[in-house]
Amino acid sequence: WANAPGTLRDVFLAGRAHGDRTFLVYEDDRASFEAFSRATLALADDLIRGGVEPGDRVAIAMRNLPEWPVAFFAAILAGAVATPLNAWWTGPELDHGFTDSGARVAIVDEERWARIAERRAGYPALQRVLVARAPAGPGTESLADVIGAVPDWSGLPEGRVPDLAIDPEDAATLFYTSGTTGRSKGAVGTHRGGACGVMAHPFSAARAFLRRGEAVPVPDPSAPQRVALLSIPLFHVTGCFATLVPNLFRGGRLVMMRRWELTRALALIERERCTSAGGVPTIAFQLLDGMVAGTHDLSSLETISYGGAPAPAELVRRLRATFPRAQPATGWGMTETAGTFTHHQAEDYVHRPDSCGPPLPVCEAKVVDPEENALPPGEVGELWVKGPNVVAGYWNRPDASAEVFRGGWLRTGDLARIDSEGFVTIVDRAKDMLIRGGENIYCGEVESVLYEHPAVVDAAVVGIPHPTLGEEPGAVVAIARGQEATEEGLRAFVAERLAAFKVPVRILLHDEILPRNPNGKILKSELKRLF
Ligand code: ATP
Ligand code: MG
Repeated sequence: WANAPGTLRDVFLAGRAHGDRTFLVYEDDRASFEAFSRATLALADDLIRGGVEPGDRVAIAMRNLPEWPVAFFAAILAGAVATPLNAWWTGPELDHGFTDSGARVAIVDEERWARIAERRAGYPALQRVLVARAPAGPGTESLADVIGAVPDWSGLPEGRVPDLAIDPEDAATLFYTSGTTGRSKGAVGTHRGGACGVMAHPFSAARAFLRRGEAVPVPDPSAPQRVALLSIPLFHVTGCFATLVPNLFRGGRLVMMRRWELTRALALIERERCTSAGGVPTIAFQLLDGMVAGTHDLSSLETISYGGAPAPAELVRRLRATFPRAQPATGWGMTETAGTFTHHQAEDYVHRPDSCGPPLPVCEAKVVDPEENALPPGEVGELWVKGPNVVAGYWNRPDASAEVFRGGWLRTGDLARIDSEGFVTIVDRAKDMLIRGGENIYCGEVESVLYEHPAVVDAAVVGIPHPTLGEEPGAVVAIARGQEATEEGLRAFVAERLAAFKVPVRILLHDEILPRNPNGKILKSELKRLF
């Protein structure tokens, strides 16, 4: 792909060329690609003057503000390793992010600063703290003193791109895993890996051309602008690499939300005529509710895409039935794969609703048995993946790196099967799978059946310890408002569709959506305690 970006700096330069087009929309503020680029260059210059050297970590800890992409690309252009920290983290969790990464500079919002102000003494490497949308205070500088107030970036000087040697294989990012199965680990991503995000966009034509072995055509600059509703956090790879990066590269508009909220999202889709929305499966389910309610004009939507957590087949069926004009799209990926690794969309997806699609054309996947032998198509084993977007390793964790990165392959810890055409289906996380008296139970399969029940809006299956069987399946479901369901009725529903050993022995009914992390993953460890 001749004009493919090799580094995240190339992505920035491609974005800069989109000039006066609107790039970022936040509340009533709008910033063009040009204004974004001026702010980014001003901050990059300031970071370098402030002593940031290639390889230094620059932590970014804030909600989805327009300053987030500015901070991210400024760190990149300064040759630093952009280190996004989870804005949901509490003080002690932020301690881990700061001390583990050894960040030299932190770019934060006021809420994050309030969480760490008292703890900062425990971060010996941290030399500078820039706070967005706040005046300078004791120990902090104001980000607005460097880049001006939003959206006045267009008045900044044009700026110069720092003249640094950047290699595609250089470390560019340090994203932390979601911490679903243990303590969050920092994954060191390369420039090339981050730039692979340009292929992750639901509309990327590049995938199809590459798969056919053809040259990728240059996009038509006069085509109508795509408008993406960004409703997931930028501090996770899906928000950053699968949304920010491709939209910057291709000249798409990002409509930002500080946090996800359905009514606000519907109003923004209508106001900004968004062409794509989604993020994680829970958000797609909620958008469905919005479509059914019919309170807003959502006719601009061309794609609903989601990934990062299991999406039951029922989701794509309901999307198709409710809103046939928008193409559903999904994908599988990890922090360790810089986001999207497989991608699935449109008719392919509708016909294979359990799958998360084939790997990106530059990637490879295989399924192995416990002895690490590759398995034939259709058999379930651990998914191993390889490709330019797979990170170089974990930061500060030689033990975990040695266990997970093997001869160019990444062991994902997910159980999957791959069909003869290369479509991947995730069946469970290895850690979530239950063995009940020797019989394997994939939680995802049971959850998918529960979702088919018309009253169920959310479902999670977890293992309940059993003295002789090892574990038994238990389920927690959320029931839609105004709908009725009973534990017995739901068990009978599952029993009609699955073998008896897979039927949850207990089903707890909730009237609220289940607890999740910002990536849309159900916090199963919390649910286990309910049994
Ligand atoms: P940690 O590694 O810290 O325990 P985590 O694995 O949840 O946390 P992420 O890197 O955010 O951290 O998530 C990657 C995982 O998300 C995958 O290994 C997989 O289990 C799950 N996942 C991602 N996409 C999908 C999908 N389309 N279907 C099912 N599961 C998915
Ligand atoms: Mg993981």
